[in-house]
Amino acid sequence: MSDTPIFRRLALLGLGLIGSSVARAVKKHGLAGEIAGHARSAETRAKALELGFVDSVHEDPAVAVAGADCVMICTPLGSYKSVAEAMAPGLAKGAIVTDVGSVKGSVIRDLAPLLPETVHFIPGHPLAGTEHSGPESGFAELFEGRFCLLTPPPGADEAAIDRLTRLWQGMGSTVETMNAEHHDQVLAIVSHLPHLIAYTIVGTATDLEDDLKSEVIKFSATGFRDFTRIAASDPVMWRDVFLNNKEAVLNVIQRFNEDLTALQRAIRWGEADKLQDLFTRTRAIRRGIIDANQA
Ligand code: NAP
Repeated sequence: MSDTPIFRRLALLGLGLIGSSVARAVKKHGLAGEIAGHARSAETRAKALELGFVDSVHEDPAVAVAGADCVMICTPLGSYKSVAEAMAPGLAKGAIVTDVGSVKGSVIRDLAPLLPETVHFIPGHPLAGTEHSGPESGFAELFEGRFCLLTPPPGADEAAIDRLTRLWQGMGSTVETMNAEHHDQVLAIVSHLPHLIAYTIVGTATDLEDDLKSEVIKFSATGFRDFTRIAASDPVMWRDVFLNNKEAVLNVIQRFNEDLTALQRAIRWGEADKLQDLFTRTRAIRRGIIDANQA
């Protein structure tokens, strides 16, 4: 528990997996005096109150953010513009406006023009999640031992960056800052491409003839199962990720296709050394991830 909360009033717009996990973690560690929530549906707002991870819920985003010294957008990327337009009239002078979206360049493009100059805009992205959605799926420990990346625009207020950093550290995360373009390139390879591959493999299996399809499910533990977990991730969220990180994702798909073609060729021509060399190199990457406690 923190002695003095970092924020007086935290407003969370979006109370699904990420928003409700932030709320639970902030409450657990005493990081904010009060938490005000907004979600699109009356059902989610009622659930949030029932589960008790917010102190109040509001249908109108402008009312939720009124008097808040930190506002965190936790909705899908495609809804950012409408959420920002709706909340802007309620924003308090000096408030920190941040988010958790999986792409950062588009967030700056969409949000910056809609925000008053009197707020501090510092986009963020916790590298933590599950394949589940909604207010019931969140938990306070989600961010522990995970990275949170902040992408403050040039000239952002250092004191505001420091306060937001302390909030994420209070939830157990390690915070790093980088520019938005770099963030989007890195995430395209470590997160967006793997999800696209999982969606493709599971999609391919879905299109198989019925008898083959049932065998795929039955014998899924041979590798397919791990892809199905990733491919069960929220369809709206991932639709928005690909639409908003188009350039970086297309770039890594191009490189991936070239490497896949090289592997295809190695298999066709029986180039055993080439295959073994690659599989040996990739095994070392896995060991590195385990050593870095990111497994
Ligand atoms: P989620 O569980 O589906 O929750 C989304 C929340 O946003 C719900 O409360 C939903 O309200 C609300 N919402 C949706 N559209 C809205 C709109 N047009 N206006 C107002 N509220 C709206 O999603 P999530 O997994 O928490 O993802 C939220 C954000 O976190 C996304 O931007 C995503 O990129 C980012 N993120 C996700 C992960 C992950 O693994 N899931 C990891 C890191 C970052 P209702 O419930 O009322 O529909």
